[in-house]
Amino acid sequence: MVRLKAKRTALLLYSVLLVLPTVVLGGLHWHQLWLDYNAELAAVPESARDAARRLTDGIAERLDQLLEQEESRPFDHYAEVFAPEAPIGDELSLHRSPLLREARPQGVLAWFGYDLSEGYGAQVDVFYGRSTAGHDLHAEMRQPDLSAAASELLRKNLADGFLRRAARLGSVQTKELPVVQAVVHRGREDSFECVRACMPVLSEAIVQVNYSQFHLRFYIDADGEPRALATRRVILADLDPELVAAAPCLEPLARGFGLVQGIFLDPYWLFEELPVWVSDRVLSGSERFQDTPPPGQPDARSDFRFPVSLVRALGFETPRDEPSEYGVVNVVIDKGEIESRFEAQSWRFFGVAAMLALTLTTGMVLLLRSVSRELEQATRTENFVAAVTHELRTPLSTIRLHGEMLAEGWVQDEDRRAEYYDRIVRETSRLTTLVERVLEKARLSARAAVPEPGDLSELVERLVPDVADRAGIGRDDLRFGLAPDLPPVMLVPEAVSGILDNLVENARKYAGPDGRPIDVMTLETDDEVVLEVADRGPGIPPEEAEHIFEAFYRVGNEGTRTSTGTGLGLHLVALHADSMGGRASVHPRPGGGALFRIAFQRA
Ligand code: ADP
Repeated sequence: MVRLKAKRTALLLYSVLLVLPTVVLGGLHWHQLWLDYNAELAAVPESARDAARRLTDGIAERLDQLLEQEESRPFDHYAEVFAPEAPIGDELSLHRSPLLREARPQGVLAWFGYDLSEGYGAQVDVFYGRSTAGHDLHAEMRQPDLSAAASELLRKNLADGFLRRAARLGSVQTKELPVVQAVVHRGREDSFECVRACMPVLSEAIVQVNYSQFHLRFYIDADGEPRALATRRVILADLDPELVAAAPCLEPLARGFGLVQGIFLDPYWLFEELPVWVSDRVLSGSERFQDTPPPGQPDARSDFRFPVSLVRALGFETPRDEPSEYGVVNVVIDKGEIESRFEAQSWRFFGVAAMLALTLTTGMVLLLRSVSRELEQATRTENFVAAVTHELRTPLSTIRLHGEMLAEGWVQDEDRRAEYYDRIVRETSRLTTLVERVLEKARLSARAAVPEPGDLSELVERLVPDVADRAGIGRDDLRFGLAPDLPPVMLVPEAVSGILDNLVENARKYAGPDGRPIDVMTLETDDEVVLEVADRGPGIPPEEAEHIFEAFYRVGNEGTRTSTGTGLGLHLVALHADSMGGRASVHPRPGGGALFRIAFQRA
């Protein structure tokens, strides 16, 4: 009882201290994993925005470098013919524009310049420059004839004043310029003579020129080609009227001076090559750059796409109705990495959880089983003790009653007295058997002998004389059918002896002395080796068959029973069979009678 209580406490502690905390902590851990995963997913748009910012900043920086470099280029490089310096000696030295020979920096398709002033509007100069060694061959192949584009631009600007407005925006740089350079840049061949003639007056004269910054502009031209360009305006400041009076060739300058100078940028370089180049440097592991989603391929669901319009992000001015889809790049964040990390974590978690659940359940089952076994055992012992007490009390009170009646002279009749004595003897012997069997049962459950392989027929043959003696029958009352050459089985000789004792004794007791012998057989069936004891008595009613091996179970009731017994004989048979790993059963015998069968385990 104490042990049972201890086990119940262990079960309770096990549940409270082990199972409950494991379930709660496991649940909390899983909840946290889930929250972290969702937080990471929720942060994806923000990190995509951040990656897009880094990408556009990188591209803008590279573009700024290009424009900065171009800003330092003197304005007169944009004219076909220019005077590199003020007069050399008395001569005016003229040159072709250096832009014709200049190596084009990466990203520049061509330079161009034209005059917006009245009367000069027809002339556009386009300078393609030369390709540098190692220059991208594809950029060469993309080199279009941009004269038409530049002319279109000029017409457009004259028409809508787009560039004038643009030039007014932003800061303006002022530079001083030898007036001769300005005249040559602006002049026509015929005015060079005048310049030469007026050289004494002009050689030292300086004029001021205002430059606007480069402005970025993007549009799709009439042929559907994307045009990205940077333009600046150059405006002449006021000219000294005295100087104009002294030199007639300054006359055109005095009327005004508005030049547009610009660069055709390579859209492929700007919107495709450059983003790839920058993205390689500024994007991290899970971030990718993608110019356009692969055609026909559905977007991978695990990717988060953040589109950036480079035209807008880099500050390109577009005509009002220009579609701004061009130059859209995507920053892609691979959510798959977060998802697969979460998946791996989940698998790990569930793996550990499954192991834990298995361990805990096994522990729980073992504990429960041991508790219920203990309970069963306790109940069995309790029942057994109650039954033994009852079985002991009955013969004891019979003996006492009859003894007292005899001692006090209540029975006078000789026959009755003989009957009473006989009753006392029978009850005493029944008591002895009972005590022996109880002791045998106690011995059996205390120390089970270890079964060993042996020959069943040989053992039965050896045991039978003693069995017959103990049962009080002659050897002729027994008939043998012992199979030779049986395969060895697991045996305990004392157990087999105990079984034979009880079965033969029962057969003698219940089948009656009608001369028919008791059969003792050993044989091998399809799958087992068995010992059978059969008689021609009344047999066991089928509904009793499953109970007769229980302790103290007897067929019928005390009133109808003619034989005395303890109800422990067959119970002991079952226990003996059990102790050898075998099984006891009862069957109706064909032709009448009971057939008890003990199946043995093969060695
Ligand atoms: P008991 O001490 O009463 O013989 P057992 O456990 O040996 O106790 O037998 C249980 C009951 O099984 C008996 O009461 C009897 O009714 C029945 N029984 C046992 N052996 C035989 C048999 N050979 N033929 C008919 N009935 C039997």
